[in-house]
Amino acid sequence: MEDIATAFPAVKILEHASLADYTHTKTGGPADYLAFPTNVQEAKSLLAYAHQLDLDVTVIGNASNLIVRDGGIRGLVMILTKFKTVTVDDVAHTVTAAAGAAMIEVTQVAQAHQLSGLEFAAGIPGSVGGAIFMNAGAYGGEIAAVATSAEILTPEGEVRTLNQAELDFGYRHSSIQDYHDIVLTATFSLTPGNGDQIQAQMDDFNARRAAKQPLDLPSCGSVFKRPTGHYTGQLIQEAGLQGLKWGGAQVSTKHAGFIVNIDHATATDYLELIHHIQQVIWQRDQVRLETEVRIIGEEPQA
Ligand SMILES: Cc1cc2nc3c(=O)[nH]c(=O)nc-3n(C[C@H](O)[C@H](O)[C@H](O)COP(=O)(O)OP(=O)(O)OC[C@H]3O[C@@H](n4cnc5c(N)ncnc54)[C@H](O)[C@@H]3O)c2cc1C
Repeated sequence: MEDIATAFPAVKILEHASLADYTHTKTGGPADYLAFPTNVQEAKSLLAYAHQLDLDVTVIGNASNLIVRDGGIRGLVMILTKFKTVTVDDVAHTVTAAAGAAMIEVTQVAQAHQLSGLEFAAGIPGSVGGAIFMNAGAYGGEIAAVATSAEILTPEGEVRTLNQAELDFGYRHSSIQDYHDIVLTATFSLTPGNGDQIQAQMDDFNARRAAKQPLDLPSCGSVFKRPTGHYTGQLIQEAGLQGLKWGGAQVSTKHAGFIVNIDHATATDYLELIHHIQQVIWQRDQVRLETEVRIIGEEPQA
């Protein structure tokens, strides 16, 4: 059989592509094949062909919540940021967005149509697919409150629609994590509002974000989930870990829950620093810090 890049001449497919060029941490090893399908049919055909070749398939969005180990990812990585269509039903008050659309753009479209409910996501730098996968949230809002359905491609190549119950949202969790489905589109059910008020709320959230988060440096946002009864940033600060450097990675001096890439960090720097923080906080506070960031790929060869 032809190799996958040769078999799909119309799809952009890079071989041995550095994923550090795509991740928000600017770290990570190469993908054997990195494909940029532009529509569902292409994604479906790539998935089927990869199965025939016995290639593993990994799907990523904006790579803003991702650490790819320095050994990279074997098989096929599909990046869906070319699926971008956003449509609005002004009668039903719904917005339907393709998986690769940026959540920030979706919130702007909703605001332009005077639809309220997505303001919390105005500064979340992920894609729609990543937001559904993670049940992204901020400032008291979360995707689970507004996402009513998602169209998915199952690992078997079937396109299905999942309703809200089937998406099984929880804290930074959805059923997509359990079944390895690929999100193709999502529909958000919103409420009519006042465009100026919606914009003011989004501006306020973004100003609060800019004041507290190190947005000028590469990072993956909050590294850890919020442990019950504690604030991660506070635990890390109190343990004296804020500002700690590990290779080119550093616990942000602006927000201790973030790890920033200050000097050509590797994924290994990130992972060792994460492990160190987890160990210190466990020994000091008996609190297990679980990562919110998704860690994928292979260890580098020794
Ligand atoms: C500066 C900064 C601030 C952030 N602030 C927040 C915040 O306030 N709240 C918050 O919740 N998060 C925040 N994040 C984290 C991140 O933006 C979110 O988790 C976002 O939803 C991830 O989307 P993504 O497209 O980047 O996903 P990726 O990082 O590309 O992927 C994350 C996971 O989703 C899977 N995935 C992605 N797309 C699909 C798809 N179409 N189908 C199936 N699986 C898919 C991937 O396989 C991976 O396991 C922040 C990150 C940064 C860098």
